[in-house]
Formats: sequence, C-alpha cells, structure tokens
Amino acid sequence: EHILEFRDVGCRYKGGVDVLNGLDFKLARGEMLFLTGPSGAGKSTVLRLAAMQLRATRGQVLMNGKDLAGVRPGKVPAHRRELGMIFQDFQLLHDRSVFDNIALPLVIRGLSHTDLARRVRAALDAVGLLGREKSLPRTLSGGEQQRAGIARAIVARPQLILADEPTGNLDPRMALDVMRLFERFNEAGVSFLIATHAIDLIEQLGHRAIHLEAGRESQARPEAASRLTA
Ligand code: ADP
Ligand code: ADP
Repeated sequence: EHILEFRDVGCRYKGGVDVLNGLDFKLARGEMLFLTGPSGAGKSTVLRLAAMQLRATRGQVLMNGKDLAGVRPGKVPAHRRELGMIFQDFQLLHDRSVFDNIALPLVIRGLSHTDLARRVRAALDAVGLLGREKSLPRTLSGGEQQRAGIARAIVARPQLILADEPTGNLDPRMALDVMRLFERFNEAGVSFLIATHAIDLIEQLGHRAIHLEAGRESQARPEAASRLTA
C-alpha cells in the first residue's frame, strides 16, 4: 500500500480548462519524490489535491489506500493534520515568535503545555534553530525562516510532507541545506512530495522525479523546460 497514489487524475478549476489530464503516480511509504515541470504544468495543483484544498474532477487520489473522494468536508481538517506543508514564501506569522509559529500545529491538536514545549524544542533542535525561539520571523535569514517552516511542518510528526517550491526564495547554499534537512527527516521515515524547479538540486541528490508538462507526466528531459521558465 502506498502513502499516496494518483490514478488517472483530472482536475478542472471552476469555469476553467483541465489542469491535470490523467495523471498517474505512486509515492511509496518512506519515499522522497520530486515533481518538476514548467510554471503552469500543474505541480501545485497536485499538492492541493493531496492536501484536499481541491477535489479531483476525474480519477482517484488515494492516501494510505483510501480514496479521498470519500472524505466528507467535516473530515478535511483531520486529513490535513496527517500532513505537514512547506511553502516557497514560508508562511510564518510575523507577529508571533518562532516558538509560537512552530507550536501552532500542536495547539490545534490540544497538546498540554509541557508536551508542547518539549516537542517544539526538539523540532527547533532538529532544524538547528535552538536559541531562536523568542525571535520574530523577520529577524531570521531566509534560510532560517524556511528551517522554522520545516520545524512547524514536522513538529506534529506527520507521515507525509508536501512542499511547494521550498527553495524558491533561497540562495543555492541554503537550498542545499534545506534539501539535506529533508533527507534527514526522510531517513527517519517521513515521506516527501516536493514540487520544484531546482533540477540541478534533484540531480545532485538522486531522488526520483516526475516531470509534468500540461498536466501529465512527460518523458522529456526536464532541463529544457526548466531553462525556459527559470
Ligand atoms: P504549477 O504549480 O506547475 O506552476 P499550477 O498547478 O499552479 O501549476 O497551475 C496549473 C494551471 O492551473 C495553470 O494554468 C494555472 O493558471 C491554473 N490555475 C491554478 N490555480 C487556479 C485557480 N485557482 N483557478 C483557475 N485556474 C488556476
Ligand atoms: P490551518 O488553518 O492552520 O491550515 P488546518 O486545520 O487546516 O490548520 O491544518 C491542520 C494541520 O495541517 C496544521 O496544524 C499543519 O500541520 C497542517 N497544515 C495545513 N495547512 C497548513 C498551512 N497552511 N500551514 C502550515 N501547516 C498546515
């Protein structure tokens, strides 16, 4: 059984054209899989479908073998709590400390203050930000802000992390640091689905990548497309 599976998935935004056209792929438990392709290819749409921010208009999206079409609207928040999400622009709350940002997913889950503080510190330690818990996000570098975003994504111990262009706002050295951090969590058993233009990084790391073109998997060499849209 796969943690995530897309079977002949199509997706159409309201009043729009089909964004995905029969996409098939499987993400094995413990795998780190990249989605590449030019802007508009449908990478973010794949992540939104997995997070149930959208529903497929054709085919099936399965998580742990369960068709997400059967998840009632009231159960969507519970589905999201199984996931960690990481964004290009970090999406930290700028009026709250690093600690409070990372604690948020645990507050939502109703953890006691003692458990919460211990787990936030463990997450900060894992991303190398111990000692910065009182800082406001804006006082951190871009790489540090993304590491705070990663701590927030992993603090509730999700089985799957969805990352949308996580290194898009980072210089190459910080981008590599972020990918190495993903690999550490991956080695600890967390599955990853990562949308990115950073073909060079993927090649350097050697994980599987699916290349999307106009809403389907393409066998074309990804470099050509990434240069067009870089
Ligand atoms: P990528 O992440 O690969 O850049 P997206 O999944 O964001 O691609 O977008 C795929 C296509 O869907 C694009 O043509 C985009 O314009 C369209 N699209 C994305 N979001 C919406 C939306 N909310 N409403 C209508 N069309 C959208
Ligand atoms: P939110 O309203 O903060 O997105 P949800 O109830 O939708 O909260 O999601 C529950 C959990 O799913 C979060 O605690 C987090 O682990 C993950 N998650 C979902 N959406 C996001 C998001 N936009 N930013 C960070 N984590 C998210």
